[in-house]
Amino acid sequence: MTIKFLEDGILQLDKVDILGGGPAGLYTALLLKTDMPDARIVVREQNPKDATFGFGVVFSDQALGFLQADDPQTHDLIAPHMERWRNISLVHKGETVTLDGIGFAAIGRLQLLQLLQKRASDVGVELVFDQAVSSLDALDGDLIVGADGFNSLMRNSDPQAFGQTLGAFSNHFAWFGTTKRFETLTQTFVKTAHGPMNAHHYRYEPGMSTFIVECDQASFDGHGFGELNEEQTARACEEIFADALQGEALITNHSMWRQFPKLWCEKWVAGNRVLLGDAVHTAHYSIGSGTRLAMEGAIALAKAFRENDDLETALASFEEVRKPIAKKIVDAANTSALWYDDFGTKMELAPLDFAFDYVMRSGRVEVEGLRKYSPQFMADYDAYRAGITS
Ligand SMILES: Cc1cc2nc3c(=O)[nH]c(=O)nc-3n(C[C@H](O)[C@H](O)[C@H](O)COP(=O)(O)OP(=O)(O)OC[C@H]3O[C@@H](n4cnc5c(N)ncnc54)[C@H](O)[C@@H]3O)c2cc1C
Repeated sequence: MTIKFLEDGILQLDKVDILGGGPAGLYTALLLKTDMPDARIVVREQNPKDATFGFGVVFSDQALGFLQADDPQTHDLIAPHMERWRNISLVHKGETVTLDGIGFAAIGRLQLLQLLQKRASDVGVELVFDQAVSSLDALDGDLIVGADGFNSLMRNSDPQAFGQTLGAFSNHFAWFGTTKRFETLTQTFVKTAHGPMNAHHYRYEPGMSTFIVECDQASFDGHGFGELNEEQTARACEEIFADALQGEALITNHSMWRQFPKLWCEKWVAGNRVLLGDAVHTAHYSIGSGTRLAMEGAIALAKAFRENDDLETALASFEEVRKPIAKKIVDAANTSALWYDDFGTKMELAPLDFAFDYVMRSGRVEVEGLRKYSPQFMADYDAYRAGITS
């Protein structure tokens, strides 16, 4: 391995192999290539250039803030393609409660990938599509990055080395799209004859929205979802959420039922191999942070290479600095996911109590903070509680 130094002191590698062309892999490639212009940086992605799973993803205002601060160029590239809104709507017992001031922005996953692909290829990253890596032995980079998602080949090739803890949340979910336009990020809760159902829905393009349907095991069994194929599931969910969809169809894209994985690795580095993004931790979609974590991980890795003189120290520093920050977000996502696993019980609450319980679910929100950010909701909630107790 030849390692040399530039005049400004940034460590230079000859070759970096990156597994996976999702947000973590593409963004790492882009940042490393910018810092190490002479390095050969190769991203291998098993899917074609224009394919992906799912539909749109959301970023909280906070999550966009990190990108704006750390990498204004990428932020400014992505921001014009985002749909934004200031409020969350909760539909429960036929009433809509507005949680004001909780801002989010959304972008199509494919659009995000294509923007990152373009930037990476503009700076000279080699992007190889349609290539599923089946063995790490084929990779000879000074640094090998496992940005290969939840089913990571790198992690699975040596789970002990990475100290993985793996489980799954109990609810079932399916990720659809729809041409129905929603004005805010909306959570619709519906009681059916077979049990409670929930949909998370928000637009990510002017005429396209994400629509994630979720239910517990009893509801899943009661509806016989296990017996339905993807299209039959979409038709059944259209009926359940007819009020929200108002006649628009659900669109499928690998929209099979799944249970959200709960993954955490205690070790992120093994030799010259490092895991990033969903390969090393998962964060339930209810706090919209998986993509943010993947991209922040890339920023932290690039920074570690900027601030350290050799590969081993850079990787150790990356793990030491980034792990506790990611852990806080993953813990909040796990707490939020547990709230969803029990949303049927919560649905016994009246709409405003339900909304309050919902907004406090991750354990990271404090009432005083909520009064500041959601003044209208808190005024409504306080008036309602005062009415009950007086
Ligand atoms: C229903 C749902 C909704 C979500 N909503 C949000 C949201 O609103 N906001 C948010 O921030 N996050 C959301 N997420 C999470 C987000 O999608 C992930 O956290 C994010 O994609 C992680 O990025 P990544 O690059 O680490 O992994 P991935 O996006 O999974 O990318 C990994 C890539 O590696 C490729 N790959 C895997 N193995 C190989 C191999 N052997 N050879 C070559 N290529 C390989 C895969 O094809 C894939 O392209 C959601 C997830 C789900 C399931």
